[in-house]
Amino acid sequence: MINWNERLSPQVRSIAPSGIRKFFDIAAKMKDVISLGVGEPDFVTPWSIRESCVYGLEQGYTSYTANRGTLELRQEISNHFKRRHDINYNAETDILVTVGVSEALDLALRAVVSPGDEVLIPEPCYVSYAACTTLAGGVPVSVPANIENEFRITPEELERYVTPRTKILLIGYPNNPTGAIMERADLSKIAEFALKYDLIVISDEIYGDLTYGEAEHVCFAEFPNMQERSIVLNGFSKAYAMTGWRIGYALGNADFIAAMTKIHQYTMLCAPITAQIAAIEALRHGEKYMKKMVAEYNRRRKLIYDGFIKMGLECFEPKGAFYIFPSIKSTGYNSSEFAEALIQAEHVALVPGAAFGASGEGHVRCSYATSIDKISEALARIENFLKNHRR
Ligand code: PLP
Repeated sequence: MINWNERLSPQVRSIAPSGIRKFFDIAAKMKDVISLGVGEPDFVTPWSIRESCVYGLEQGYTSYTANRGTLELRQEISNHFKRRHDINYNAETDILVTVGVSEALDLALRAVVSPGDEVLIPEPCYVSYAACTTLAGGVPVSVPANIENEFRITPEELERYVTPRTKILLIGYPNNPTGAIMERADLSKIAEFALKYDLIVISDEIYGDLTYGEAEHVCFAEFPNMQERSIVLNGFSKAYAMTGWRIGYALGNADFIAAMTKIHQYTMLCAPITAQIAAIEALRHGEKYMKKMVAEYNRRRKLIYDGFIKMGLECFEPKGAFYIFPSIKSTGYNSSEFAEALIQAEHVALVPGAAFGASGEGHVRCSYATSIDKISEALARIENFLKNHRR
C-alpha cells in the first residue's frame, strides 16, 4: 500500500483545503439554506456576451489560440486600460490572457519566487494568496489589517514585517473578504514603500469595477515607476458575472509577462477560445450591464450593512467587492463556531473570518451577491440566532 501522505510534496502537505468550501458542503445537504457564502454573482452573464460566444461557435471557432490569448482580446484589454486608467500596455508584449485570475496569480508567483523568498500579504485576504505562495516555494508573511483602520494597510505596518528576504508585496483591493478599498493617497504611500525596498508588487484588482458611492478604484500601476515593478491581475468573473467562463489576464513589464507566458505555455497552453470571444464582447459592449449589476449590489450592500448595525454587530461599511465582514466578537463565539451554529440553527451559510487568515478571526464573511429577498430573510434569521446564542 502506498502511503500517500509520505509521498506528497511538503508544500502540498502544508496547505489546508480552502475554508470556504467546507460550508458549501454542509449547506448542500440541507433544505431551505440561504447562502451568503459563495463569492460569485447571482446574475447570469449578460445575453449579448453569451450570444457572442454562441455565434463564435456557429462560425467554427473551436481551436487553440496564441498562448498569450488572441491579439484582438489583448488589444481590447489594452484599450480598456488606456481609457479607464490612462496606462499604456502594449497588446503584443505586456498582456497575458489566463484561465481566470486564479491562474494569473499562480503564474505571477511562480515566475518570480525563489525558494525561501518572503511575500508580504496584507490580511484578511483571499484564500489563495498564502497557498499559492507556499506552492511556489515562497514564504507567506501575513501583515494584519484591522477594522479600526477600515482594513487598509499602511507602510508603518508593512515596515514591521519586511526583511532582507522580502521580494514581493501581494495586495488585493477592493478586498475579499472585507470590502475595503485603498484611497489614492493610501496607495501612493504603498508605492513609495515598494520602491524603498525594491519589491515586486502583485496587485489583484479583480473587484476593481465594483466600488460604491464616492469610492473610486485606483490601479496600482498608475503611480510613478509602478507600472514597471507591478503585475496587475484582473478578469471577467466578478464584474461581468462570468465566473464559469474562466477568463482573466495579467498586465506588466514585457519580461515578466514573457516569463509567465513560458509557464502558461507548458501548463495551460491557452485560455478557452470561447471565453476569449465572450470577453471581447464584454469589454466592447458590456459596461452598461456591468453598471446595472453594480447598482443592484449597492442596494443590497446598504440593506445588509444597515441590518448588521441594527443588530448591534460592529461592522465596517464595505466600499467595494460584494462582501461584508461584521465582527461577531460580542457573541463570545469564534468565527468557526459561529458559522457552524448558525447554519445548524437557522440554515444560513456564511464563511468564518479565520478562513481568510488569523487576523480574520472574530469576523464572518457574508456575500451580498444574492437577492434582496434572500438577504432580508437571512438578516431576520441571524437576528433570531443572536437572541439565543450569546456566551
Ligand atoms: N482574486 C480574488 C480576490 C477573488 O475573490 C477571486 C475569486 O473569488 C479570484 C481572484 C479568482 O478569480 P477567477 O474567477 O478570475 O479565477
